[in-house]
Amino acid sequence: MTYPPAPSPRPPSCPRCTGPMAGYQRADVPVQYCERCTGVFLDLAALERIVAVEAAARTAAPQLAHHAPHGPVPPRF
Ligand SMILES: [Zn+2]
Repeated sequence: MTYPPAPSPRPPSCPRCTGPMAGYQRADVPVQYCERCTGVFLDLAALERIVAVEAAARTAAPQLAHHAPHGPVPPRF
């Protein structure tokens, strides 16, 4: 699914409380958040990107952490 190129306004101040906005990178997507009310500001494409990356990481994590042997381990006498 593709999204039309939308303008990505980067508000210099928080739309909610007019506090100062700070930026950081989440899943290679620039995200802006308010230092005062911790509100997060990002466009739809950025949100979809983050959700997709985090969903992929969640499905891949159990496989990486799973090191169980194949099948039941026979008892040793
Ligand atoms: Zn705010």
